[in-house]
Amino acid sequence: MSNTALNRTEAYRIPRNIVWHEGLITKLERWTLNGHRSALVWITGLSASGKSTIAVGLERLLHMKRVRSYILDGDNVRHGLNSNLGFSEEDRKENLRRVGEIAKLFVDAGILTIASFISPYEQDRDMIRSLFPADEFIEVYLDCDISVCEARDPKGFYEKARKGDIKNFTGISAPYEIPTRPEVIVNTAKMGVEACVEKIFSFIRAAEIC
Ligand code: ADP
Repeated sequence: MSNTALNRTEAYRIPRNIVWHEGLITKLERWTLNGHRSALVWITGLSASGKSTIAVGLERLLHMKRVRSYILDGDNVRHGLNSNLGFSEEDRKENLRRVGEIAKLFVDAGILTIASFISPYEQDRDMIRSLFPADEFIEVYLDCDISVCEARDPKGFYEKARKGDIKNFTGISAPYEIPTRPEVIVNTAKMGVEACVEKIFSFIRAAEIC
């Protein structure tokens, strides 16, 4: 582990004189006000598998159905909150730890939260799952063969990764562990964007979240 990562981890573990202050409004009361429950929809998959596209489509559909939702996007959080993190295994872990904590606050605020992150390691995804009650975490695996992702390559990342210009690139020079127990699997190579979004929405409906 690098010194920076070690310092971060140590700082996180230092016991401080901080006590959780309970509010007067419960999550249940927020759900009642909204007319729907909240949960975290965690979208995982290779780069260019369609995470951002599906997240945006799902948020649009939920909004149309009058469901309060919000996207935490992998690339977007790296612009601000996590701009000091890279793509080493420990930085990816810290990236996801922070996002998990932010998502917990959003879900507590009553928002149906959509997170789109490559999140290649099962251990990290399980760490985030462990932050939520079972019925408030929905793992969505975007199943898309790497050859299709590479042919799409909307940001030119695969080309750069093949040349060695991007290190630790998932699927090329870093692993992607396929989820073993996702709540939803959508094949974005075989199904269109709308059908993929509908499949995820159907699961959310069936789980009586909205
Ligand atoms: P990621 O966020 O996983 O890196 P993006 O959403 O940025 O992926 O890019 C995926 C690309 O694949 C987009 O250009 C999108 O239009 C295209 N695409 C084609 N079919 C699908 C599908 N079924 N679901 C999602 N994206 C799709």
